[in-house]
Amino acid sequence: MSDPYRISLSDLRHQEGSQADLSLTITEPDFATDLVKTEGDVDIEGTLQSVSEGVLVTAHATYDTVAECARCLKVVEEPGDADLTELFFYPNRAKALQESGDEEAEELPLIEDDTINLEVLLRDTIVGQMPFIPRCEPDCQGLCGVCGERLADLPEDHAHEQAPTEPDPLDELRAKLVAEERGE
Ligand SMILES: [Zn+2]
Ligand SMILES: [Zn+2]
Repeated sequence: MSDPYRISLSDLRHQEGSQADLSLTITEPDFATDLVKTEGDVDIEGTLQSVSEGVLVTAHATYDTVAECARCLKVVEEPGDADLTELFFYPNRAKALQESGDEEAEELPLIEDDTINLEVLLRDTIVGQMPFIPRCEPDCQGLCGVCGERLADLPEDHAHEQAPTEPDPLDELRAKLVAEERGE
């Protein structure tokens, strides 16, 4: 099968309560937000269970993520994991729900040709779990506003002295005039 997300249900008996193991590796998927992405493969382990409406998937996905700290841009690599639960419907069951007036039944994931496709479930769950504003540390202080270095990499007393200002010739002249007026 060429679609890596499509799982055959041929090992699962279509009898309520029967189960089959689910074990799957997705090779280098492109799950990502603007600042976070999965790195490398995503491994999925779980079970498929026949229920009256279709097949219930319960699984656990593990993967690595690479993120860019939103404050200091440091690259942060972290392991991630996600719980997956989804009920895939037999088409005739979904159709029956639609006909009974359930408007959401049009959107239900379906069993197609004795297979299910895990892409939407995986992508939505894993991307949905990525931090909206990734940080290298919970209290990352970001970058120094003057030199642009990460404050966390700088000594605690890091500061920029005001550049010494050149003496203003006009000030010197004024001081001289004031002194002359006083007859000094
Ligand atoms: Zn940071
Ligand atoms: Zn600085």
